[in-house]
Amino acid sequence: MTQQAAKLVFWGVRGSTPTLERDTWRYGGNTPCLELTAPDGTSFILDCGTGLRTLGNQLTAQQNGQGIESHILVTHYHWDHIQGIPFFHPFFESQNRFHFYSFQSKYLGPHSLQQVFEAQLSSPYFPIDVTMMTASREFHEISGGQIWDVNGTKITASHLNHPQGCLGYRLDTTGGSIVYATDNEPGAAECDKNLLQLAHDADVLIYDAQYSPEQLASERKGWGHSSWLEGVKIARAAKVRNLILFHHDPDSTDKHVDGFLSAARQEFPATWAASEGMSITLSERGVDVAMRESRLALRRRLRFVATVTGHTEDGKSFEEKATVRDISLQGAYLALKSRPRLQSELRVVIEASDEPSRATVLSLRATVVHFEPGREKDQNGVGVVFIEDPDPGRPRD
Ligand SMILES: [Zn+2]
Ligand SMILES: [Zn+2]
Repeated sequence: MTQQAAKLVFWGVRGSTPTLERDTWRYGGNTPCLELTAPDGTSFILDCGTGLRTLGNQLTAQQNGQGIESHILVTHYHWDHIQGIPFFHPFFESQNRFHFYSFQSKYLGPHSLQQVFEAQLSSPYFPIDVTMMTASREFHEISGGQIWDVNGTKITASHLNHPQGCLGYRLDTTGGSIVYATDNEPGAAECDKNLLQLAHDADVLIYDAQYSPEQLASERKGWGHSSWLEGVKIARAAKVRNLILFHHDPDSTDKHVDGFLSAARQEFPATWAASEGMSITLSERGVDVAMRESRLALRRRLRFVATVTGHTEDGKSFEEKATVRDISLQGAYLALKSRPRLQSELRVVIEASDEPSRATVLSLRATVVHFEPGREKDQNGVGVVFIEDPDPGRPRD
């Protein structure tokens, strides 16, 4: 039993708008949505970006005939933080119950979040209206400085510096404390002070690191966001134990985010870049970060010997002989005399020519995605992508 631990899962980490480009897949393209389960089992959801849809599917799959109940904290009403609402299936089941917390927007007036629901589920923007949302919904309007308790988890809200307003939240569970401070631009004295106070001594600070420090100082000044460097400064000043870079820019590729992370780690080693499917367990033993398997290409079992060099968790370098037990393969470029039909299937058997007794290394099923006539006679260039194989044969060992 993990009764003494709180668990945080990242369902959406991208800022501003979802991304589908392949070079953003590793960190993920869904907009902000986090799930926190307190040690007593109380469920919290932070923001309702597009990551909310996949969270809803998982909650539905796990509900076992019982109603779902959760406390949903919304930071603000920009699209990227509310766009998952119409696609969260548990809102459409009457046995489920949700408690919402958000601030009263001066643009919307009283019952701001109810108005957001009604506007999103209305003609001509959505096929059905809000009356189809049969789950019980209770709305709480809160403001900066407010502190309240939900089943033993203390929640603190604080205003951040963001166009049209935004709240940061701190949740002190019995397993540990997390601070969710996204969509914040540093430089407004009052909000800077709020944030330091909110983040003080937290186990985990999730912070807006949308831009590079250079962008933040120039063309993106005034857009309401921040950088990894500001995150590092706040993490140090507030004495937080772990910093999570969050709200990645839609135009930041995985490589850009890798760069922000490694720069931040030079300054503040306990830094992580939020990635979809990442989870953090908080308990008296400290903070444990885990990642979902993110290899997307076809996987095949095999055995190779490899020499692996790198750094351990505590920063020591190592080198060791290891066994590669499976490998992900995306495709290959083949020189062929034949001209295979585009979008047809091939079988590619890769052989180790220097080892005649065990010649077959891999037998792979492939689909033809590219063809070009070769420069030499009888030599065509054929691109293939490997696909799932119902009969992959025995792995070589
Ligand atoms: Zn945002
Ligand atoms: Zn925003």
